[in-house]
Amino acid sequence: MEPKYKRILLKLSGEALAGDKKMGLDYDVINSFGKSIKKCVDAGVEVGIVVGGGNFWRGRSSGAMDRTRADHIGMLATIMNSLAVADGLEHCGLEVRVQTSISMPQVAEPYIRNKTIRHFEKGRVCIFGGGTGNPFFSTDTAAALRAAEIEADIFFKATMVDGVYDKDPHQYPDAVRYDTLTFNEILSKGLKVMDSTAAAMCQDNNIPILVFDLSRPDNIYDACMGKNIGTIVK
Ligand code: UDP
Repeated sequence: MEPKYKRILLKLSGEALAGDKKMGLDYDVINSFGKSIKKCVDAGVEVGIVVGGGNFWRGRSSGAMDRTRADHIGMLATIMNSLAVADGLEHCGLEVRVQTSISMPQVAEPYIRNKTIRHFEKGRVCIFGGGTGNPFFSTDTAAALRAAEIEADIFFKATMVDGVYDKDPHQYPDAVRYDTLTFNEILSKGLKVMDSTAAAMCQDNNIPILVFDLSRPDNIYDACMGKNIGTIVK
């Protein structure tokens, strides 16, 4: 079966890497993502990944610290996660390169778009660490930016809920899940899919967003194959 999407940008939140522990890293969870991503690569999908940092650090909620400095720490947290995910994917038999927006050549390659494309051609997965490299941004925005740069067919926002609801499904049992949304509906209905900078970036560059649940890791593969899961925003 042919995959529906040939090149994807997968955004994994830091929280997702922590599993039930909520903090730090759960290697079994990372491994389960790796197995699904391996199936995608074997099916011919080119995979770019942006990893969040929330399992270690969140700049905006630290409060006491200067925001810029707190965000610097947040960006470093995303690089730690990128290295951990790279390790997990390698254990699943994938070839992986980590590229960072903040230079640290002893640890990982600098992000160079054309190098990324070359890695894809060789069947390698690229993990983009360090967010955008700038404070006051999120890893969702970094993921939208990289999706635009690498001309991804779609932005996979893999989260802890199985799509976008009209209200918080954890609080309201009668919450209704949307199958499809437009970017304008997100704004007009005030739905929280991602921050506005990230959403605007996707809208301006015509990148559809698929929001789906990672508690079933093989959703990554199913999403690539075009199975009807989650909520699509286009
Ligand atoms: N961050 C940043 N610039 C970026 C991306 C991330 O300053 O371009 C910092 C920011 O402090 C953020 C933290 O890194 O809170 C972790 O990223 P995020 O909260 O987006 O991670 P997630 O919620 O996806 O785990």
